[in-house]
Amino acid sequence: MGEIDIMFSDEMGKYDFGPGHPFRGDRFTNFIERFREELLRERSRFEIVEPRYATDEEILTVHDPDYVEYVKKTAARGGFLTLDTPLSPGMHEQAKLVVGAALEGAQRVMNSKASKAIVIGGGMHHAGVDYGGGFCIYNDVAIAAKMLLEKYKLERILILDTDAHAGNGTEDIFYEEPRVLFISIHQDPRTLYPGKGFVWEIGSGEGEGYTVCVPLPPGSGYNVYTLVMDEIVVPLAREFKPQIIFRNGGSDPHFADTLTNLGLSMKGFNMLGRYVREMCEELCGGKELDFIGSGYNPIVLPNAWTSIILGLAGIDRVLPEPINPPSWLDDPGLVEYTKSKVVGELKSILKDYWDCFR
Ligand SMILES: [Zn+2]
Repeated sequence: MGEIDIMFSDEMGKYDFGPGHPFRGDRFTNFIERFREELLRERSRFEIVEPRYATDEEILTVHDPDYVEYVKKTAARGGFLTLDTPLSPGMHEQAKLVVGAALEGAQRVMNSKASKAIVIGGGMHHAGVDYGGGFCIYNDVAIAAKMLLEKYKLERILILDTDAHAGNGTEDIFYEEPRVLFISIHQDPRTLYPGKGFVWEIGSGEGEGYTVCVPLPPGSGYNVYTLVMDEIVVPLAREFKPQIIFRNGGSDPHFADTLTNLGLSMKGFNMLGRYVREMCEELCGGKELDFIGSGYNPIVLPNAWTSIILGLAGIDRVLPEPINPPSWLDDPGLVEYTKSKVVGELKSILKDYWDCFR
């Protein structure tokens, strides 16, 4: 039994939007080679588990039947979900494999077959109940959470979304759900897709106060992220007391990512993994489901993904930067700005819902 399951098979490389698109399937093979080299010494702690395909019924626990039908038909003849998300034959099946990996990973953690499961290629957080886009077809994160709420009767799931883009699909799906605390840390939506994820988006109805959006100014790096983890994420997690933590997001907050403008370094990705590990140890017996799929600079992706996993495994190792850090990295002005404009504002908005902000 591996302490950490890596949900992966070569088949997952077929989740690929074709030549010229920023999301290509070769990311998986590039990563897994790097991962094998880096973690050879620790291999007893990891197990690579071949995922299954989700069923249509499982997809329908979150998604609208008309939407699923649309995906199937459009993929079969070739077309577009949105301008950035083309559908080619086989993509309905490929998207079901990502969901199956998440479901199986979640089950393995709940049945104590592993303490953590990492879905390689997961984190399709831009897909909502009846829409997709942003390279996302079916929301594996939400479907796995829903399964744990319904089948395992969990009452408190923390989803921490650290992808550079706001997790609008996951947010919409659980906007009125108090059993899911959704925290998304992302680049300021005024400057990046999907244009959602502002501080005033806090959930509604029963779910009011259970959506937390942390928009960061472009350039934000290590010190801004640790500020947000210490001031927002950890206090909320302690008060919420999750029974399991989900984290999603790949390497697109890296300073050299080609689609975004954040400033995380390899050390930063390791730090994020470490924070998540520590929260899991303290709050939920180590239980975690992790989703790593994004990242649009293929040169930094393998080391950045591996850095997150090292952090999750409690291994303090800073991997080399394949690209030299720019001079603007860790500008102290960004920490000051985030402290007053983001963290300060969030605390004042959320203090009515959370004691830790009073
Ligand atoms: Zn992203």
